[in-house]
Amino acid sequence: MSESKDFLRTIVEEDLRSGKYTKVITRFPPEPNGFPHIGHAKSICINFGIARDYKGHCNLRMDDTNPTTEDMRYVEALKDAVTWLGFKWADNVRFASDYFPKIYEYAVQLVTMGKAYVDSLNEEEIREYRGTIKEPGRRSVYANRSVEENLDLLARMKNGEFKDGEHVLRAKIDMSAANMKMRDPLLYRIRHAHHFRTGDEWCIYPMYDFAHCLSDYIEGVTHSICTLEFENNRDIYDWVLDELELKLPRPYQNEFARLGINYTVMSKRKLLELVNGGYVHGWDDPRLPTIAGYKRRGYTPESILNFCDQIGIAKANSMVDVAQLEFCIRDDLNTKVPRVMCVLDPLKVTIENYEGEETIDASYYPHDVPKVGSRKLPFTREIYIERDDFMENPPEGYYRLTPTQSVRLKHAYILTCKEVVKDASGAIVEIKAEYHPNSKSGEDTSNIKTKSAIHWVSAKHAHKVEVRLYERLYSNEAPDGLEDLNPDSLHVIQNAFVEPAVISEKPDVRFQFERQGYFYADPIDYTDKTPVFNKIVGLKDSWAKKAEVAPSTPKTEAKKPSIVEGVVAPMSESEQAHFDTYTKELGLNHEIANILARDEHLSSFYKETLTFVNSPISLANIVANEVARELKLEAPLKFSPKEIAELVTMIDEGTISTKIAKQVFEEIAKTGDKPTAIVEAKGLTQISDPQKLKPLIDDVIAKNPDNVAKYKAGNTNLFGFFVGQVLKNSGGKANPTVVNELVSETLKHV
Ligand code: ATP
Ligand code: MG
Repeated sequence: MSESKDFLRTIVEEDLRSGKYTKVITRFPPEPNGFPHIGHAKSICINFGIARDYKGHCNLRMDDTNPTTEDMRYVEALKDAVTWLGFKWADNVRFASDYFPKIYEYAVQLVTMGKAYVDSLNEEEIREYRGTIKEPGRRSVYANRSVEENLDLLARMKNGEFKDGEHVLRAKIDMSAANMKMRDPLLYRIRHAHHFRTGDEWCIYPMYDFAHCLSDYIEGVTHSICTLEFENNRDIYDWVLDELELKLPRPYQNEFARLGINYTVMSKRKLLELVNGGYVHGWDDPRLPTIAGYKRRGYTPESILNFCDQIGIAKANSMVDVAQLEFCIRDDLNTKVPRVMCVLDPLKVTIENYEGEETIDASYYPHDVPKVGSRKLPFTREIYIERDDFMENPPEGYYRLTPTQSVRLKHAYILTCKEVVKDASGAIVEIKAEYHPNSKSGEDTSNIKTKSAIHWVSAKHAHKVEVRLYERLYSNEAPDGLEDLNPDSLHVIQNAFVEPAVISEKPDVRFQFERQGYFYADPIDYTDKTPVFNKIVGLKDSWAKKAEVAPSTPKTEAKKPSIVEGVVAPMSESEQAHFDTYTKELGLNHEIANILARDEHLSSFYKETLTFVNSPISLANIVANEVARELKLEAPLKFSPKEIAELVTMIDEGTISTKIAKQVFEEIAKTGDKPTAIVEAKGLTQISDPQKLKPLIDDVIAKNPDNVAKYKAGNTNLFGFFVGQVLKNSGGKANPTVVNELVSETLKHV
């Protein structure tokens, strides 16, 4: 559950308090034209989550108004996804197609009221007549048809007398509306196509804008929550419901930001292209961002729910780093799954001084995981280790096995290399080694120092398994198309070796393969003869891995980036403690708290700023963004926490706007001057005095008579335009709150 309330819940609570509704009813309304993706998961969490939190209910409704692209198979996938995420829809699954008769009745009603007409322009003409953002549109001559003629034509459209595209039904609204969507939107079109549920019963289909609001109304939905791209459709939504003079209460639409994740695509159309083109192996390919893909890969529903909770609900679209999702699954599995050993790229080691066989009792879980359980781990003379856990000529800082460096075998003994066996080509094929009998894990009296412990399996007992490693599907952070696909997104290893308990005991379906990552027994392809494991996610960030073998990279421990190539390291205890304080006590959002907590310099810098001024949120924003950027440059800082505190004080007191604050910061970073001095010298003080702002506002209003007229005619969206112009003309110095009030006041009187 979210700790702080999001704007949607604020609206819902207010509506319940004011008595606008007595019960909250939401809906999740996908079009069954593809498998749902993680963006849908976000929408599912919001719609079902709000219904749950306020003891209402949420419908699962198929928005099946487009007969040519829809399929029952997708309906099943959608039901699966909702269920897997742990939600239950009210009663049966709903279908917009069940409302076709009712929706048609509403269309007849609009026509009868003279508010809709049958247009016979063709598609191209309709587009042309619509006008542009700058030019008003023209109304079709057919808009003058009488009610009788319209009713007759509509009935004949329904009866199949016309061909596709011959006529459409349109709402009669306003061909010069600033919101282009309001220029007589289409309500119905002719489509002679077979619908997967209604068959050939209908040959006219309602458009989204007509079907959606009415479906919501028919179901008694109160809050119709959708993504931002439907913002302009809201006017039609309201128009239809208002003009039909329906019995109240009626639903209202609210928009939130779409989820986007880097290195992938999130549109069913593009996903369909990948599936149909054979670029991936079906809708549940573990590389896809589909729910079915995550499920097949081994993600848990909890991790997805946590992710959706963490990213929150915002009003501005943004791109989320895939690392955050990976962080969530790692975080979830860390406390749940058994640790076992699997060698992906085996190198044989013969322990020459070992005779016989023994079994080691090895715990499945580390100390910090509150679960118990252990397995028998066979130890023998011949084992496999990971090929890259041995190096003949290691670089400095390589901690694993070398001809001169011993290493611990996890849960077992210390191993020392005696001889490197190579084939004719010079490739290493085997290591001959010896073990130290008095070095057994837990009872080690050998006094031999090792720098790391590696995983291994007994050659005789290990099971051969297939392991599928997944990399990102695209090599580009913001992929454009197929050309950005990562050619190496799937790597299949057929000859990995896993310790026997994994196969014989099956203590779980998800595992941590020590030092490799988290893996999942593939739910489809796994058989006892050929076990198959999917890599869910790696263990830690690849930077740490790189640094381990390449110690020549500069040691900038404190500046180690927390997110590298999309993988996040788990937090240390102290980082976690910082994070908790930031989010729980200081009210920072997760993203900012994460940045600060993971960086020692930043967290101590932040702490010090707080001793000067108690403004945790404003300070955190500046430290996590501006200061962090400066620190990355590795040059000594020209400023101290004191200057930053001073800057924030000026923002808090309204002396400067946040926009100007950025500019001042740049200057502080360059010169080290005091912020107050910079503001003074450059005349950056925020303008809050209405006397000074008034001329700016009058000027903008005088210069934009068209927009003023449109605003007066009801296009309230233009309000933001006026405010924006004034802020711009003031060079960012105008106080936005004051400008808002003044613009609103002034517009009332022009
Ligand atoms: P796509 O563009 O991927 O096909 P869509 O919006 O056409 O998506 P629908 O099936 O119409 O998909 O969506 C069902 C619901 O899920 C809608 O309310 C939509 O707003 C929401 N939704 C779709 N994509 C996202 C996303 N990326 N983030 C959040 N919500 C989304
Ligand atoms: Mg869609």
